[in-house]
Amino acid sequence: MTGKTENIEEILAKAEKQAISPDEALALLEEINSPQDLNDLFRVASEVRDKNADPRFKFDGFIGTITPCQINPPCRFCGRSAGKKDAFSNPLSIEEIQTGARLIADSGVKMVEIGGGTMPGGAGEKVIAAVKAVKSVAPDIEIWVNVGPSLSKEDLLILKELGVKEVCSSLEVYNPEVFARIKPSDSIDARIKLAEEINRTGLGLTSVMMVGVGSTHEEYVKHLFWLRSFENLSHLPITGFRPVPETPLEKKKMALSIEVAKVGAVARLVHREIDISFGGIMNDPQLLPLWVMAGANRAIHMGPHIHRSGGWSRATLPPEIITKTVGKIEYRNFLPFTTRMVENTGLRPDPDLPESHEIAEAKL
Ligand code: SF4
Repeated sequence: MTGKTENIEEILAKAEKQAISPDEALALLEEINSPQDLNDLFRVASEVRDKNADPRFKFDGFIGTITPCQINPPCRFCGRSAGKKDAFSNPLSIEEIQTGARLIADSGVKMVEIGGGTMPGGAGEKVIAAVKAVKSVAPDIEIWVNVGPSLSKEDLLILKELGVKEVCSSLEVYNPEVFARIKPSDSIDARIKLAEEINRTGLGLTSVMMVGVGSTHEEYVKHLFWLRSFENLSHLPITGFRPVPETPLEKKKMALSIEVAKVGAVARLVHREIDISFGGIMNDPQLLPLWVMAGANRAIHMGPHIHRSGGWSRATLPPEIITKTVGKIEYRNFLPFTTRMVENTGLRPDPDLPESHEIAEAKL
């Protein structure tokens, strides 16, 4: 046995009981490169999730977009950079948000994200109206908001009073130079300030970290430990970079699912009690077993989804997915497939496997 492997064994043995240090997190990212070590990392990440975090695997609903994106030039990885008409130029109306909220509440999920683009001049009014619209038809569903650095301290206080559970502020990448390269019109300082305001207000903080878009292992570690300074951090989505055709980053290499999972599993050894989800290239229902193995306990875009018709593409959809068009919005519910997948990994999905799964099979 080499010294290198012993080091990994020692770190993972410690991680079973307590959070690991930055040096230990870096050693795991650098040195775990074999199927055996990956298996050990995933085993410990799963155990830490099962012992410390919410043991059910939660599916959120999604309604978006609720705000346009007004930053120009757009982020270089975003579909808006392809110059085509996109969902962010045609946000949902209040009536469409209400229709979506009814459908999502009927699906059984307990939490919904209302998401949209960044409005540097302030999106408070639109977001507050959207929250009230959801509450007016689905008062019991919990809400989280993701609209970039578009909310003031006053907006956050109102959102808290309205019962919003979490608000998102993401750096995506920790290195300010990489941030400026991929998000030329955005402000890392505004995002840091918003994260601090969310935390101070006592709202749950969601903050996304992107893998495969220019960050080093050291930067993933700094990012994970910077997030430890927020006592109200409640949700950490880890996304894998997907090059979008016709954007400036279309030729950049796609993130690898195993690397995203490895970063996520190390994140679980640092952030033991919060919800961890994956995104970007990981938003493929067939990758859910990898999410579960890497310590995740929540998914954003794998449940019921409301979006502008034609504004949200998926390469292949499993046949049991429910799709409906209502006026100019589309409803897609992945739960019949994704809850079945999670149940087959041995975790209990929340909501439970819907009856419609049985119906779908009976028709075959
Ligand atoms: S802020 Fe979001 S929607 Fe706007 S350009 Fe950047 S990634 Fe796209």
